[in-house]
Amino acid sequence: MWQVVGHKWAVDLLRRALAGERVAHAYLLTGPPQIGKRSLALNFAQALNCLDEEKPCGQCLACSKIAHGSHPDVQVIEGEGGTLKIDQMRTLRREAALSPLEGRWKVYIIRQMEQATAEAANCLLKTLEEPPPHVILMLTASEAEALLPTIVSRCQVLNLRPLTTETVQRALQERWGVDVERTRLLACLSGGRLGWAIAASQNNVVLPQREKHLDEMLELMGQGRIERLEYAQQLSRNPEAAPELLHLWLSWWRDLLLAASGSTVGIVNIDREDTLRAQAQRYSLGQVRDFVEALRAAAWRLEHNANTRLTLEVLMLSLPAR
Ligand SMILES: [Zn+2]
Repeated sequence: MWQVVGHKWAVDLLRRALAGERVAHAYLLTGPPQIGKRSLALNFAQALNCLDEEKPCGQCLACSKIAHGSHPDVQVIEGEGGTLKIDQMRTLRREAALSPLEGRWKVYIIRQMEQATAEAANCLLKTLEEPPPHVILMLTASEAEALLPTIVSRCQVLNLRPLTTETVQRALQERWGVDVERTRLLACLSGGRLGWAIAASQNNVVLPQREKHLDEMLELMGQGRIERLEYAQQLSRNPEAAPELLHLWLSWWRDLLLAASGSTVGIVNIDREDTLRAQAQRYSLGQVRDFVEALRAAAWRLEHNANTRLTLEVLMLSLPAR
């Protein structure tokens, strides 16, 4: 049984490919972080190498080895210090040429392909151009546009979309045993990213940190230029945390957009509805929309390696005043 939550169309597509022996040599799974790309890739690796009739069974030796990261023919390759290096791709190329040791297929799951250096990407391209018959490459990335077109064109692209709040909520309750009161807030906050919701449910830092970050933003709205620039500077010392913070701010300002247009159905920050309603009275729809755009633009720039401090400074100065 496929263990993937949601993404039914993608599971169906892979299942049909497997049943019809029409498996592609390379897939590219795209979508926001923690949406389930790696889980789907691992589940597919299980389906490919499962020893049971009903693939993937999740129980056989192959399935459980893959789940525990100990199957010799299934490898997950990740960047080191935020970079996928050419040495990693050279090793892959060399090992991929050898026959599988235990399974039917050798599966290489390459995470966050956008982190590959130009040399690494070109090295992988060689493997993609002439894949050994027993090799399947599963690339993941936030978006296809971040990769070389020559790489994308050699992959079957599956763009995974956020799950519905209900799907995330049900999965948290039924599969991960999270208590009902927390599931709704976590599901709303996750933005359809089940991986985020699971991690947040198991980590006592995530929710208090969100509270802190929201409070800081509300406070900053009442502050002037100097405090705002200081805040930007402080954030830019920890550039890995910036995208998640912008994601949180974006959720808030999207909620305000909903509240300003007179509806709180579908808001994410359900525990702060009163503050949202009060703020919605204070700003024009145009102001809110402009800041949502500014947040999107800043997130895009950070993803495309713009100067973190400068990007955050510009953003902080455009945060509407209280
Ligand atoms: Zn199995």
